[in-house]
Amino acid sequence: MCSIIGYTGDKAAAPILVDALRRMEYRGYDSVGVATRTDGEVSVRKGTGRVEEVNGKVGMDKMHGKVGVGHTRWATHGEVSDINAHPHLSSSGGVAIVHNGVIDNHQELRRSLEKAGYAFSSQTDSEVIANLIQKHHDQTGDVAKSMIRTVSEIKGHYAFIAMFRDGTMSAARYGEPLIAGVSKNGLFLSSDVRGFIEHTDEAVYLESGTCVVIRDGRMAMTDYLGNASRYRTTTVSKEFGDISKGEHAHYTLKEIKEQPGVVRRAGDSSQDTIRKVAGLIKDSRFAYATGSGSSYNAALLARQVLARFAGVRLEVVLSGEMSSERGMLRRGTVLLAVSQSGESADVLDAVDMAKEAGCVVVGVVNSVNSSLARAADMVIRMDCGPEVGVAATKSLCSQYGIMLRLAGELAGETVTDVGVVAEVISGVIRDTNAIQKVAGKIREITDLYVLGRGLHYPVAMEAALKIKELTYIHAEGLSGGEMKHGPLALIDEGSYVMVMNPYDSTYGDMLLGAQEAKARGAKIIGVSDRQSGTYDHWIRIPKGGEVSYSFAEIVASQLLAYHTALAKETDPDYPRNLAKSVTVK
Ligand code: GLU
Repeated sequence: MCSIIGYTGDKAAAPILVDALRRMEYRGYDSVGVATRTDGEVSVRKGTGRVEEVNGKVGMDKMHGKVGVGHTRWATHGEVSDINAHPHLSSSGGVAIVHNGVIDNHQELRRSLEKAGYAFSSQTDSEVIANLIQKHHDQTGDVAKSMIRTVSEIKGHYAFIAMFRDGTMSAARYGEPLIAGVSKNGLFLSSDVRGFIEHTDEAVYLESGTCVVIRDGRMAMTDYLGNASRYRTTTVSKEFGDISKGEHAHYTLKEIKEQPGVVRRAGDSSQDTIRKVAGLIKDSRFAYATGSGSSYNAALLARQVLARFAGVRLEVVLSGEMSSERGMLRRGTVLLAVSQSGESADVLDAVDMAKEAGCVVVGVVNSVNSSLARAADMVIRMDCGPEVGVAATKSLCSQYGIMLRLAGELAGETVTDVGVVAEVISGVIRDTNAIQKVAGKIREITDLYVLGRGLHYPVAMEAALKIKELTYIHAEGLSGGEMKHGPLALIDEGSYVMVMNPYDSTYGDMLLGAQEAKARGAKIIGVSDRQSGTYDHWIRIPKGGEVSYSFAEIVASQLLAYHTALAKETDPDYPRNLAKSVTVK
């Protein structure tokens, strides 16, 4: 989601902050801003649009001062506008804040602050933090005290950084990520290690419920009662800083192309944990998996492979729906919590519920220092490298590969040859002619139905999600058998239906479904290793088994979404309205 960054040290803050915001752009945002402090005054430059664009207009990187805060906003309260962009100043201008997350009780706080004479200029929930800190600072003259009082009054999920007129910087974290970076030239506070990895690999991961005050180059941390807390510095892998696109036009394309290697490696570094998790699942006879977006689709694929290969039942719940399952969660039940970033608020909430019920939480996660990795009892590392493209690609393949390994552990034998799968994926990536042609055809359409059966059903859902995210075409992933139970009513001349139709046990029924849609005027895109007269367009995938077919379809649909985005001249890396780590509910 949005990013916050703070720097205080012996270098000019503004260029460091702007560069950090650029490096965290992949997290998704709609506006950007920076505040620095010089000669006892705080100044702000901000606006809507991309970092480059706003910087070009207002010259954020030209601001003076050696202490500053920066922000990319993903609006939750108040329209996307220059005024609502962060940083926000307290009404007297003495405190600037940048905030990630949501303040639930902002309305009542705003009312009482207004009564006390503090004025507001934006519609955001965040502005109350600036005025609240200011009010407590006016009363106590003490930064640490004003922070403790502020966090005791605000409710919600947040990470924020405040900068005071005297150059003191403070921050608090509750449920949203915040990491400190310690370098010889200064101290950083950031939503993501990428905000400071250029300068230092020494990081302090703040616990939720921590306040920080940085003054004169020294950092002090306390809990919310003001008790000093000790912190540990960890060295983070430089790999987290590697977010270059290489020779590729887009991160998304680079990440799609990395998938053969990702599948080969999936689960390698966590083989022992996977074995232990299999043991726990065997003892409890069934398990839960949860995720949001593509990670949810990975969980659906997991359900099928665990049932099919190991006869194990996996209950799959959307993370945002976990509360309806609360009564079913039992002590000792295994919950696989799947999240690329490990920061998805919905997933973290589901994990909290499971932990409360005594479940064993297994995080399947790419960011090993994330909140999920720290909250989980065990961690299966995805190790697929940083994924920058907002729409998940290689992380899904990694998750699916891990679930196949888990199925293998449960079954007592390898269930798929990852070498073959990697080859099949490479085959799809090598020849994108047909995909590009189809992309040219569908760029004008408004709706696409994606059908699959068996393993190819969750794949169809994932394909539809990619199409939605990257092309803004309304797409629905459906089980092939469901068309005639409703959606067929929508099909007429000119509708587009994409069928996942490899030559496996689902082939005959799927082809029949395609013919039924065609008979009503639909244009059929067949994703198959077999040509058929039913298809108006054929995306050929390599021959294989059911599992390798499913991977081929996943990658073919990622490429279709990518090329359609190019044909529509939208940015495949940063789809509108979306963010990479969805840290708000
Ligand atoms: N709730 C705040 C706003 O709408 C912060 C959103 C964010 O996390 O970027 O401005």
